[in-house]
Amino acid sequence: MMRRVAIVGAGQSGLFLGVGLLDAGFSVTLFSNREGAQIANGRVMSSQCMFHPTLELERRHGLELWEEKAPPINGLAYRWATAEAQIHTEFEVSRARPALSIDQRVKVPAWMDVFVERGGDLRIEDVSPAMLEDISEEYELVVVAAGKGDIAGLFPTDEEHSEYTRPQRALSLAYLSGVEPRPAFGANDYNVVDGVGEMFLLPALTTTGPCEILTIEGIIGGPMDCWDGVRDPAEHLALTKDLARRYFPWIYDRIRNAELTDSLGTLAGKVTPRVRKPVAHLANGRHALGMADVVVVNDPITGQGSNNAARCAESYLESILQHGETSFTSDWMQATFNRYWDFARWGTTWTNSMLRPYPEHLGRLLKAAAHDPELALQIANGFSNPPSLFPWWDDPQTADAVLTEAVGSGK
Ligand SMILES: Cc1cc2nc3c(=O)[nH]c(=O)nc-3n(C[C@H](O)[C@H](O)[C@H](O)COP(=O)(O)OP(=O)(O)OC[C@H]3O[C@@H](n4cnc5c(N)ncnc54)[C@H](O)[C@@H]3O)c2cc1C
Repeated sequence: MMRRVAIVGAGQSGLFLGVGLLDAGFSVTLFSNREGAQIANGRVMSSQCMFHPTLELERRHGLELWEEKAPPINGLAYRWATAEAQIHTEFEVSRARPALSIDQRVKVPAWMDVFVERGGDLRIEDVSPAMLEDISEEYELVVVAAGKGDIAGLFPTDEEHSEYTRPQRALSLAYLSGVEPRPAFGANDYNVVDGVGEMFLLPALTTTGPCEILTIEGIIGGPMDCWDGVRDPAEHLALTKDLARRYFPWIYDRIRNAELTDSLGTLAGKVTPRVRKPVAHLANGRHALGMADVVVVNDPITGQGSNNAARCAESYLESILQHGETSFTSDWMQATFNRYWDFARWGTTWTNSMLRPYPEHLGRLLKAAAHDPELALQIANGFSNPPSLFPWWDDPQTADAVLTEAVGSGK
């Protein structure tokens, strides 16, 4: 008998797990609160930059479909400056294996088609808590992959692992055409300004073709926490350019003639970083397992969310396959999450650290990276593999040893 799994939420993680389970011979029903066409014609959701290791996971499942069309993100260009544009440090790192950003308005509808073509049952329903109980009666395993949807509230906050109780940045996205390319190579152009926040610019593929996505991370209460009264796309674009001109003039030079790719190519909002308990105890005595953003949602400052969603789905897939014919108990669900958390906790610690002013040891490391390509590479590699940043990222003594090594080896 085929094992029956239900997944609520057809985004980066839900579709990934759904397709992986279909390929392994499971019967999978996926509930989405929007049809593919609604997503394709809707508002942008993310900047979704995915690095080589997670693209490899997608390739393994035949889900990386855009390599030929998407502009490669061949590295990291990092700059840290004062609000008066005095540069503390800057460095560039190129990568042999590019990252890609595929607009989720392109990716999700295409993956929905793949899911159905491979035999999946896709249902358009906005699943309520009561409906989740009904679903849990019908399926052997229920996974909730609803991202930041309200249904995630069924999973209690894990106070011990949640460093923040409120948003740390005001977020804004603008999908742009007509951006001046970087001279050397397409990169995640990552810029930090003291007391103001961050501005990132990266090449991507959207519904109309290649574009650049500009992400703003405004420190709460600072000058880039200013999106509440913005009424239309033209105002959003004008404010984006004005903030760049005032605080990131080198970015302004690249975007001064840019236009929005489309009228829904903007987004503004705030995210509370949070870790949740992975098991929802439903009123009927059954359980559901939370996945990806439902259980670990970080601020996008380090661009880890889609990468984590793919890794979480792959890790859950392995746990499900290794479980054989045994029933999916709440203990198994907790163990399944723990296995993912062993990886995700490093990215969470790193991301949370980036939301605070840099401590002294990190300031020294970032400045040293300007003269030490190997250290710069180690820092850049943190984006594709956060555990590689530890222990030195948050431990001044180990960080000193990293610096001493660099000096001792004459770098
Ligand atoms: C401004 C911004 C920038 C970002 N930039 C990056 C980046 O550069 N790199 C990166 O890796 N990540 C980035 N992210 C994060 C990334 O987009 C998310 O972490 C990732 O999409 C999470 O995947 P998921 O599967 O958990 O949820 P999602 O991809 O959000 O999918 C959840 C799906 O469930 C559906 N749903 C919700 N509730 C229900 C319900 N009750 N019933 C049925 N369906 C439901 C939703 O409509 C949605 O389609 C960014 C996020 C933001 C906000």
